[in-house]
Amino acid sequence: MTQTNNSSQSDFIREIIDDDLKTNKNEGRVATRFPPEPNGYIHIGHAKSICLNFGIAAQYGGTCNLRFDDTDPSGESLEYVESIVDDIHWLGFDWEDRMYFASDYFEQLYQFAIQLIKTGRAYVCDLNADEIREYRGSFTEPGTESPYRNRSVDENLDLFERMRTGEFEDGAHVLRARIDMNAPNIIMRDPVIYRIKRETHYRTGNAWVIYPMYDFAHCLSDAIEGITHSICTLEFENNRPLYDWIVEELIEGNRPHQTEFARLNLSYTVISKRALIELVEKGRVAGWDDPRMPTIAGMRRRGYTPKAIRNFCTQIGVAKNDNLIDMALLEHCVREDLNEQAPRVMGVLRPLRVVIDNYPEGQAEEFECANHPQNPDMGTRRVPFSRVLYIERDDFHEDPPGKYKRLAPGREVRLRNSYVIKHESMVKDEKGEVVELHCTYDPDTRNAPPPDGRKVKGVIHWVSAEHCVSAEVRLYDRLFQVPNPAGEDEEFTEYLNPNSLETLTSCYVESGVKDAEAGSRYQFERLGYFCVDSRDSQPGKPVFNRVVPLRDTWGKIAEKGKGK
Ligand code: ATP
Ligand code: MG
Repeated sequence: MTQTNNSSQSDFIREIIDDDLKTNKNEGRVATRFPPEPNGYIHIGHAKSICLNFGIAAQYGGTCNLRFDDTDPSGESLEYVESIVDDIHWLGFDWEDRMYFASDYFEQLYQFAIQLIKTGRAYVCDLNADEIREYRGSFTEPGTESPYRNRSVDENLDLFERMRTGEFEDGAHVLRARIDMNAPNIIMRDPVIYRIKRETHYRTGNAWVIYPMYDFAHCLSDAIEGITHSICTLEFENNRPLYDWIVEELIEGNRPHQTEFARLNLSYTVISKRALIELVEKGRVAGWDDPRMPTIAGMRRRGYTPKAIRNFCTQIGVAKNDNLIDMALLEHCVREDLNEQAPRVMGVLRPLRVVIDNYPEGQAEEFECANHPQNPDMGTRRVPFSRVLYIERDDFHEDPPGKYKRLAPGREVRLRNSYVIKHESMVKDEKGEVVELHCTYDPDTRNAPPPDGRKVKGVIHWVSAEHCVSAEVRLYDRLFQVPNPAGEDEEFTEYLNPNSLETLTSCYVESGVKDAEAGSRYQFERLGYFCVDSRDSQPGKPVFNRVVPLRDTWGKIAEKGKGK
């Protein structure tokens, strides 16, 4: 049956699939896979690959497998498997019952290797790693054949079996494909396909002392699972002839085919597991799920939504050449989604106490406020007002610059959803810093629009001191100070932004969010989007992560100090 592409999304990979379907290649089947190695948490680059592989399967009525590419025991673990499963589900994708492990194919892969030996296409080589490199030649020089290249099939079978049974030390022998030492593509110069490595595997334990190399295991795992389109990143382009060679030697009938696309690079961060592991292990961040990390776990904890990440992946598209995507685009996608779904509340990050002198002590009233300005379905909440309030320190200026519209000596401002207040006097501490304002309120201005027709330009947010809840708020900035830290000459950690985390411990938020569940997201009016931290927040003592500011951070930095 021929599937049709009925989604508007298209790119060069989908065009290849369309063509394959036209010629009824693979009997019209589309089978992809996402093949993470469980040696770290997945990052936003992986999300691009996940959206592509699962997205294609959904679009063409095909399947996408989750396959753990766990053929190298070093650094692999069950913790990583579990985190990857969890993060992909969170992103909104599902593989039904098709979760596979390349380590489950070890026996099959071993038999494939024996088959290659029997057809004279593989041999056991005793050269060590340095010698193999020397014999390999270079771009300009052909390789030299290994002195072990012409061993008999029987001798190879015997040695390979003894490699498996653990008779030899690590590195004493390797199994190599017997291809062509003069091949222009160096990868084809008798690549190593098996090595001896005594290391406990997190799934197979000590059952194996030989492990297949990526190039051998990956294409055959694809073939075993009946994958049709094996989509990977560009760095494997040179390995494609080897991929094809192995499946042509060993697989009858439909063979999987590899197609490469450009990996995602994102500005002001690093997207490579090696670099991320370094940040975690050296304690440069608080762990894989540190909200500054470009990992799915980090973004999730920070408060990014799955939909925002999926939209981002759709918007960046799939191309054949590497580029650097602006972090601002990802933040834009997050903002766009949260603008729609996050209820509004008021919170004050850097509080300044305000006493309303003409408001009776002990009195309180409530204002009914919309949870979302455009979406009445999100309902309303009651926000208490009383004599003592907190406003943002920034929203008062003793000596206001030109266009300053907020509170200043003798001036009026509207409290969001509430009254107009007028500044009367202020209290300073011994250092001369303003610590308290005294204001009066105008009872006739309850709820906008002002009944007296008076125009008050500034509107500021506030909370009632008696009713609010104190909270910790964590503000995040770029993790690195330069757009492409991995591309610089110095060690990338040199470029870490020392101010990437600012913790504010005496913030006040509307009491309604006091017991908000971990992961709940809000817009703090005028400030940005905030998410209840899933690790450190406790009922009654909320901790919020700022997901994104309301506007582009840089726009905001440029604006800082100008007053709004
Ligand atoms: P890293 O380079 O971060 O160590 P990796 O490629 O070694 O990543 P794997 O677990 O092997 O990590 O990757 C699983 C899949 O995700 C592969 O198909 C790989 O091509 C893809 N992938 C990895 N990084 C990116 C990226 N930055 N953009 C798009 N796809 C990626
Ligand atoms: Mg890898």
